[in-house]
Amino acid sequence: MSRADRAEGATPPRPLSIDRMAGWPLLGPLKQRAGHKLLVETLRAWVEAKRGTPDVADEAACAAWCEARLAPLLEPSQRRVFNLTGTVLHTNLGRALLAEEAIEAAVAAMRSPTTLEYDLADGGRGERDDHISPWLCRLTAAEAATAVNNNAGAVLLVLAALAAGKEVIVSRGELIEIGGAFRIPDIMARAGCRLVEVGTTNRTHLKDYEAAIGPETGAIMKVHPSNYAVQGFTHSVSAAELVPLARAKGLPLIEDLGSGTLVDLETWGLPHEPTAREAIEAGIDVVTFSGDKLLGGPQAGLVVGKKALIERIAKNPLKRALRLDKVRLAALEATLRLYADPERLVQRLPTIRSLARPPLEIRAQAERLLPLFAAAIGTAYQAGLQPVRGQIGSGALPVDLLPSFALCARGKGLDKLADTFRKLPVPVIGRIEEGALLFDLRTLDDEAAFAAQLETMAA
Ligand SMILES: *Cc1c(COP(=O)(O)O)cnc(C)c1O
Repeated sequence: MSRADRAEGATPPRPLSIDRMAGWPLLGPLKQRAGHKLLVETLRAWVEAKRGTPDVADEAACAAWCEARLAPLLEPSQRRVFNLTGTVLHTNLGRALLAEEAIEAAVAAMRSPTTLEYDLADGGRGERDDHISPWLCRLTAAEAATAVNNNAGAVLLVLAALAAGKEVIVSRGELIEIGGAFRIPDIMARAGCRLVEVGTTNRTHLKDYEAAIGPETGAIMKVHPSNYAVQGFTHSVSAAELVPLARAKGLPLIEDLGSGTLVDLETWGLPHEPTAREAIEAGIDVVTFSGDKLLGGPQAGLVVGKKALIERIAKNPLKRALRLDKVRLAALEATLRLYADPERLVQRLPTIRSLARPPLEIRAQAERLLPLFAAAIGTAYQAGLQPVRGQIGSGALPVDLLPSFALCARGKGLDKLADTFRKLPVPVIGRIEEGALLFDLRTLDDEAAFAAQLETMAA
């Protein structure tokens, strides 16, 4: 700085400090959303990246850079989407949607202290399972019930509690792997049990089980064939046949039902899926199934069966490690209560509502939306309406496809179009099949919001 400048009283340019940059007007809105701490962190990264370049002092460039860098942190990472894949219980999209009653119960439990493990009658300690076990017993005819984090956890817990250090007999036709690394042999090993495989992949007989029973046997286990079907020259041993054998040998008979259900799906014209009550009535000692598959509740693993066995299971230390929190217990209890009135289930439970939707109703919806859809995808593609087959998902009824209708786009570059739909404010997830991009409308719950997005796309 020259003597002359000083004489004229000019202030020297202040060095660019992070604090000064944080006061830049263009950064005001971002600071409002992100807070001072995150903004300062991001500004430090900007200065680091642009050190020694003239850009470092470019307010507009800096604001845009900080916005792009912080945006992902300021949005929830789990986004709402439209599941139009045709799979009702889509594991990667979060499985069952909860009933309003369950959502309200969960929200209320989140907001306040609750009687989770507290007995209001005498001010003493209560049992968290007591909120759901009476419902589960009522709905499945079981003597007792408990619940844990998910069905994989339920299977692990049951095996560890009833057969650790012993052999567990399973048919080779039921040694399943379902998505997400759940494999019966691995769970068995983690539970400290030795798996004894009997029969062959396609055929297992009662005498195979009989021959495998020895002094080391701790339990017999049946597993519902989720995600696949064994067809053709097959034979498996039913619960009814296994029960007398297990009783005679004094062994617990366990069944992993997978999805399981509490109501007969045939009520709504769907194919039969085994219910937990059928398994209990057939004489299975301990039955496990998921809370967020066909049952239509929150993620949970439900365990129902004989009182003495459920007590042993609930006392195992793994139960404590896998237990449910008050929020999910509240949602589960509210969901189970809906089953007390099966006639209204189809109105109140989103899973059953989606599964029971008549194809003609879906078709009418597709016809309503088709003009908007055609305008949204533009003239580069041909829009149409197509009969399709969807599925329940999550391993239930893997080969029974649900007749439905889809909005369909044909033409070159379907991947790009699918990508455009995934980038919408509420991403729309469909599927590409035989040269068509399909949006199966069976699970379209919010038609107005979907239509509004199509209108924006068209404009
Ligand atoms: C889905 C399924 C499981 C795992 O249940 P989660 O609730 O996802 O842990 C276990 N066994 C079978 C047969 C299943 O279908």
